[in-house]
Amino acid sequence: MKKTFQNIEGTFDILPEAVDGAAMRRSEAWQYVEETIRAVMRRFAYEEIRTPILEPTELIARGVGQLTDIVSKEMFAFERGDTNYVLRPEVTAPVMRAYLQHHLGQRGGVQKLYYMGPCFRAERPQKGRYRQFHQFGAEVIGADDARADAEVIALMVVVYRALGLEDTVLRINTLGDEHSRPRYKEALQAYFEPHQEALSDTSRERLTRNPLRILDTKDEKERRLLDGAPRLIDFIDEESRNHYEALKAWLGSLDLDFVEDPFLVRGLDYYSRTAFELESPHIGAQSSLAGGGRYDLLAEEVGSKQRVPAVGFAAGLERLFLALDAQGIDLPATPPLDAFLIALGDEAVQWVFPAAHRLREAGLRVGYDLRGRSMKAQMRAANRQNARYVVIVAQDELEAGQAQVKNMGTSEQVPVAFDALTAYLNERKA
Ligand code: AMP
Repeated sequence: MKKTFQNIEGTFDILPEAVDGAAMRRSEAWQYVEETIRAVMRRFAYEEIRTPILEPTELIARGVGQLTDIVSKEMFAFERGDTNYVLRPEVTAPVMRAYLQHHLGQRGGVQKLYYMGPCFRAERPQKGRYRQFHQFGAEVIGADDARADAEVIALMVVVYRALGLEDTVLRINTLGDEHSRPRYKEALQAYFEPHQEALSDTSRERLTRNPLRILDTKDEKERRLLDGAPRLIDFIDEESRNHYEALKAWLGSLDLDFVEDPFLVRGLDYYSRTAFELESPHIGAQSSLAGGGRYDLLAEEVGSKQRVPAVGFAAGLERLFLALDAQGIDLPATPPLDAFLIALGDEAVQWVFPAAHRLREAGLRVGYDLRGRSMKAQMRAANRQNARYVVIVAQDELEAGQAQVKNMGTSEQVPVAFDALTAYLNERKA
């Protein structure tokens, strides 16, 4: 027996029609969502950047941070010759690489960029967590001002609103700068040290290396411990504090609701000052739709001689679809065919093939049968593709030089001369 194949676990096919259990919408829905995202990005004056799927492993290791889950456990990385490649697990470090490599700062002003495309992480697949998933996101590079943080957050929220998702929850926090964070780290270590037995294995491991991540815990017992833990806000430097206050004021000026969450830290190392996350109450354990923050230190981490202030967000398309599904939001259906041409007999087939081509060149969406099936089967195909008109051509029609054109909505049928067909259908286009 011949071996058959299935897609790799944690990846999925996006099909013309959604398949039960695949939990992924049809390709047309993806296109609609992607186009909506692009339209919002354009409204906010962001330009698209496309970077390769493959990046140097070291860029990601240094950019995202050696101690993060992403770098320590989740990279799809491999070696070819003397080059180390990684399938990008996120896009912010690649965007910063491109910004530095091509001196985008020299275009003048602040660079406002957006991206959309696949990312890869070797995580345990579960609902909302896949091995190949799709992110879209935006980055503002070259601006210190807290308005940049507020604008990026507003942009993120507006994308979800544009798709009908209103009840998202925005959480914000400040992580302080590179001086205040180490002091907080020490205070956290001192606080958790005597409670070691109460910590999970993961948290105990994090205690020495990356104690901030313990704040992320979902474990109830650990959460209770957090109540008495030192708060980052008490450690942060004045400038970061001012920046945070300014951000809140700017968000307020846009009437954007937010919740302050002193334990919001995010899983990537490059954030400083602002951190934020957008959640949906409807999509289960993996409730984070999108997240981001300020990453003023990333540029230097990946080789820049100068500090480059920047802020951005990244969002998952699959989680966005989960949220749309959970709220029963219907996306526009696949547009119908303008016409389906039905040929009866060999001579009609000779006529239909080039006629369909001409109609398509004239801008109409047109289908026809490729298998020489019966009238009934061709009608069924026309119905399945939601054709608005059916154009029937048999021997009689060929002799008369006119087709029978049936309006599928009203069942009304009229003869239309061959040379008037394009104009007839064009006038009745959806
Ligand atoms: P992160 O880059 O980890 O901050 O993730 C940003 C967003 O990407 C998350 O809020 C999710 O929507 C999405 N995301 C991250 N990892 C995955 C994954 N493994 N599968 C699906 N979506 C993901």
